[in-house]
Amino acid sequence: MNLFDVYSLFDVTPVEAKGCRVWDDKGQEYLDLYGGHAVISIGHSHPDYIKAITSQLSKIGFYSNSVINPLQEQLAVKLGKTCGYEDYSLFLDNSGAESNENAVKLASFHTCRDRVIAFRKSFHGRTSGAVSLTDNPGIVSPFNSHHKVSFCELNNAGQVEYELKKGDVAAVIIEGIQGCGGINLPSDVFLKELESLCHLYGAVLILDEVQSGYGRTGKFFAHQWAGIRPGIITLGKGIANGFPCGGILIAPEFKASKGMLGTTFGGNYLAMAAALSVLEVMEKENLVENAGEIGEYIKAGIPSSPRIKDVRGKGLMLGIEFNEEVAPLRKALLFDKHIFTGVAGKNMIRLLAPLCLSKAEADEFIKALTEVIQDK
Ligand code: PLP
Repeated sequence: MNLFDVYSLFDVTPVEAKGCRVWDDKGQEYLDLYGGHAVISIGHSHPDYIKAITSQLSKIGFYSNSVINPLQEQLAVKLGKTCGYEDYSLFLDNSGAESNENAVKLASFHTCRDRVIAFRKSFHGRTSGAVSLTDNPGIVSPFNSHHKVSFCELNNAGQVEYELKKGDVAAVIIEGIQGCGGINLPSDVFLKELESLCHLYGAVLILDEVQSGYGRTGKFFAHQWAGIRPGIITLGKGIANGFPCGGILIAPEFKASKGMLGTTFGGNYLAMAAALSVLEVMEKENLVENAGEIGEYIKAGIPSSPRIKDVRGKGLMLGIEFNEEVAPLRKALLFDKHIFTGVAGKNMIRLLAPLCLSKAEADEFIKALTEVIQDK
């Protein structure tokens, strides 16, 4: 059997990783500034994380959600304290797309409405429901996506209010910072406006923090820079450092009923051991603060060049926008300088490094970028 050929692959085969470093099958070392798409939060193969998962596996790896799993409770308590949402409830699932699907489903139950407002250049996942909330030319969407969605411009509250006034909107869904769409930031004022408009018109504000959350921007969630409290917050990626896991944080006014949401794998013992260990390491090593500090350090160090149009983002969620296509620069960074970076669209290098990135590693990138900009 062949693999279904849907991914464009670099000719690199990683076999080992530690912290912000990855080694391939030929022994070549790389600096990882992409973290497998913002997934590696505490660094690759952290010893505490390995210990937590392996010791859990030696006890029990899996049962179903029809029995009590104390690790889920422990995660809910620890996460609530860490992120400042102690009065919210946690529902656990397996991925970012699933979290967004669950959030929209819950908002529909709660409001008895079925339309959703999303934003231009948004990305919320690849399942047919999540992709219908997505506005990205690079993402192929089927014809029968099943949510009724209206797209508004980011930072245009008037447009959102026009749609909300129709009275049929269950939810407004927005990324803390748009990732795949090109590191576009909703302004603090706009997020505050969305919060009050949702209250006024009885819609649920859903903050997709799948990419921008879990400490990445220098606060636990990107929306906390604006001081708002959404109805639902969706999680994925960094929550368990590569062990598949997702979840949604749900405000106290939502009432649970049996069978409303469900999943086979969500909240399993291994994912919980991994997720608990992530929060412990983040706390012990001050990774949220580190992400904020190193992000600013990188921003300040990006060389000024007529080829660079803009540098934007917060913490370790950064976009370097060029006046040209970045594919050759990215290749040079990977194959000449041995640095993994990401991309958004054709003209932006996107950095989503592990939150433990050091100043010395940041310097390594700045030097390499300066050289490839001069050479290529
Ligand atoms: N939401 C955002 C903002 C994302 O960036 C992504 C993935 O890139 C998703 C949702 C989907 O997450 P997953 O691929 O885990 O389903």
